Amino acid sequence: MVEATMLHFTDREQQYPLKRPAELRAEDYLEISRPYIIAKAEEQASRCSQCGVPFCQVHCPLHNNIPDWLRLTAEGRLEEAYELSNATSSMPEICGRICPQDRLCEGNCVIEKDFGSVTIGSVEKFITDTAWEEGWVKPLVPVADRGGQSVGIIGAGPAGLTAAEMLRVKGYEVHVYDRYDRAGGLLTYGIPGFKLEKYVVTRRIERLEAGGIIFHLGFEVGRDASLDELRDRHDSILIATGVYKPRDINVPGIDATGVVGALDYLTRSNRRGFGDTVTDAADYDAAGKHVVVIGGGDTAMDCVRTAVRQGAASVKCLYRRDRANMPGSQREVAHAEEEGVEFVWLSAPHSVLGSPAAVVLADKMRLGAPGPDGRRAPELDDGGRFRLDADLVIKALGFDPEDLPVAFGNAALGVNRWGTLRVDHKTMATSLDGVFAAGDIVRGASLVVWAIRDGRDVAAAMHKYMAAKVEALRVAA
Ligand code: FAD
Ligand code: SF4
Ligand code: SF4
Repeated sequence: MVEATMLHFTDREQQYPLKRPAELRAEDYLEISRPYIIAKAEEQASRCSQCGVPFCQVHCPLHNNIPDWLRLTAEGRLEEAYELSNATSSMPEICGRICPQDRLCEGNCVIEKDFGSVTIGSVEKFITDTAWEEGWVKPLVPVADRGGQSVGIIGAGPAGLTAAEMLRVKGYEVHVYDRYDRAGGLLTYGIPGFKLEKYVVTRRIERLEAGGIIFHLGFEVGRDASLDELRDRHDSILIATGVYKPRDINVPGIDATGVVGALDYLTRSNRRGFGDTVTDAADYDAAGKHVVVIGGGDTAMDCVRTAVRQGAASVKCLYRRDRANMPGSQREVAHAEEEGVEFVWLSAPHSVLGSPAAVVLADKMRLGAPGPDGRRAPELDDGGRFRLDADLVIKALGFDPEDLPVAFGNAALGVNRWGTLRVDHKTMATSLDGVFAAGDIVRGASLVVWAIRDGRDVAAAMHKYMAAKVEALRVAA
């Protein structure tokens, strides 16, 4: 009976996996929570009230069948739970780790307000981690022979990798091109190990390689081949290159040595985690330094927490709005505070003094009237200017798209006014015949779960396009 197994939200307390003590986790780059044991995963899954209209599912970008895989977990039918979870997501254990669940599935769980939501992400992670351990994650097997039809995918981030998997299973020859030396995009070089340990990404990539997907790493489109050269090589192309142009601020001293970009900083930290030699590592090492991170998004949260782990003397996060109006996840702020990060709310940098940097002068801000986006705009307060010690200043102000028509050597590649690629939202086709786009390069800086959703949708659209091409040739013959 469903009632006996489920609906335990009144008598079983919400429990996330136990976090390791903050002082211990600041010593390493391992994920901060211990995994559930099976009894705990079953207990937590059993809290679900099996809603007729599950708002958790509605607000999951993949529309994962959450109530059903929670019920299967609560019943101890883990392999079936995995099959169901895997049916709608290409990387459930990654989403379970890094989705901002408080804004998506869990934030919309009906029992959230009175009892605390079902711990959906943690159960999702548990299910697929178990599937990997038990050998339930099956190799990729192409289901058809497409007579050598091939696709070229530019970008090995979650959007590109998801599309690669779906198209390989359909039987296409799949080539993935990436300018980095490792696949994974921001999963590999952006997001730190304490949120997503790298073996989790690597085992996914190894499965794709074993399934016959061909990776061309260290291959930059625009440098090693033009877009049109790739179009000649393949029957269709996917652009999934993400957004990498860092936004900047224009204040005196911002070009001083000791002021670095967030992704440069995080990439070097991740490379060191892989054991790579990083020649300029010292310039990006927070050890013993007073660190100021400028920005209030998730990238800023990753920087402050990385600086803690590098052994910074102090870490401050300077943000021009207040806690309630910051874009970053509240959970991440809480983790950062536990680890010793100090948030300096309602403050904006005025200038950086010294070269190398030694001090950030900052101005107090207040929140004014709501702007066009509905958020209250920060404005200068007359409460004064103050100094912060800062030997390392990290700019985490967000990212814009690179100029792809120029980089790819094709002015006919349509972009919109934000520089993201213009696509037909039904087919995800760009302005160029046979060229599709997905992920952050279409949405602007977004989330992994949306990149996965796009990767799945675009693979279906590309398959339709290539199947129609074959059919047209058959009719013409
Ligand atoms: P990407 O992951 O950016 O991958 C694009 C790939 O294209 C890269 O590998 C790049 O090398 C390659 N490429 C670019 N140009 C070329 C070229 N010319 N030739 C060949 N290859 C090229 N999202 C979450 O959901 N949760 C989080 O906790 C989270 N944390 C984040 C932390 C940081 C620091 C950052 C920056 C982002 C974070 N995000 C998070 C956002 C998330 O990582 C992205 O939304 C997601 O990775 C986008 O996927 P994508 O496949 O579109 O692009
Ligand atoms: Fe929640 Fe993300 Fe998993 Fe969807 S993919 S169920 S939003 S954690
Ligand atoms: Fe279960 Fe919450 Fe989803 Fe309802 S909204 S089905 S209680 S997880």
